Amino acid sequence: MLEIALGTPPADIAGIVYRLGSDVVKTPLRAHEKNLDSIPFPAWQLLDLKKYPPLDSGVENGVDLAREPRVSVIFSRGCSGHCDFCSTWWIWRGWRCRSAVNMADELELLYRDFGIRHFSFADDSMTVNRERVISLCDEIISRGMRIAFHVTTRTDCVDAEMLAKMKAAGCYNISFGIETASPRLLTRLGKENTVEASERAIALCRQAGIRATALLIAGSVGETWETIRETVAFLRKTRPDRVGCVGGLWVLPGTKLYRDCVSRGLINEDFWLTDEPYMTYTAEHSLKELMRMRDRVSNYDSTLYKIVARIKRTLRWPA
Ligand code: SF4
Repeated sequence: MLEIALGTPPADIAGIVYRLGSDVVKTPLRAHEKNLDSIPFPAWQLLDLKKYPPLDSGVENGVDLAREPRVSVIFSRGCSGHCDFCSTWWIWRGWRCRSAVNMADELELLYRDFGIRHFSFADDSMTVNRERVISLCDEIISRGMRIAFHVTTRTDCVDAEMLAKMKAAGCYNISFGIETASPRLLTRLGKENTVEASERAIALCRQAGIRATALLIAGSVGETWETIRETVAFLRKTRPDRVGCVGGLWVLPGTKLYRDCVSRGLINEDFWLTDEPYMTYTAEHSLKELMRMRDRVSNYDSTLYKIVARIKRTLRWPA
């Protein structure tokens, strides 16, 4: 962006795509910045931070989550996973992290100069490096910041010691990308994780006093009503504090799933000339069916659902 702003000729800027007459020119890939601490903080003074919505409820670490604006910050980029449907690891090519001191410096700036008490870490997988996370929590505690924050990560990247430290620093909720509780589908999605790890992560959060949110996909490649029932059973057993479920798998460019869909003739490059931001994978189930699957997972514990399901079983209707 700086090179563009300085007027550097496009051909000399690595990592961009531009139009030259009727041609589309792509320059060589740009080397990633390894030292994230070298990147300046955002110009927070240009934003009205009070306009950030609070987006939660309850009081944590003395912070009223329903009243305090929740400001997004980011500690790391990328992910240690390689899920077939995900563009994160592919775009960021691995996982990189700021130093604990640099991250704490930005939090402290927002805390002291702008009065921000409520944060959301926008990382896709915030806890890949446990020592770095523990150091960040130590920095938050030793600097006397009473804050509350939310993070997102993988279920195989948490442990009891780290969660206890996170809780002490103000972590009140962790969103886990669980996707499904079917071992077969986890393998099919390239998730490189297990149902047992997800069960353990939710239990450890409960012990630590941190809320756990299960992020799920209903309608993955290979999904059936049987695998939906596996996910419902998992939710009933583990009882996360919240469930966030999307109906249908989003086919994002650059992913293995996208390439598979191209090779199967389900999508072609012209899709990106439309106004649609992504394709939903409907090769196996209609959109309507995907919404039913989503509703089934989202309402895994609703009494109404149980009653309807019982009636359907009695009348021998499909699930
Ligand atoms: S664990 Fe999450 S962020 Fe990481 S590759 Fe898989 S879906 Fe993407």
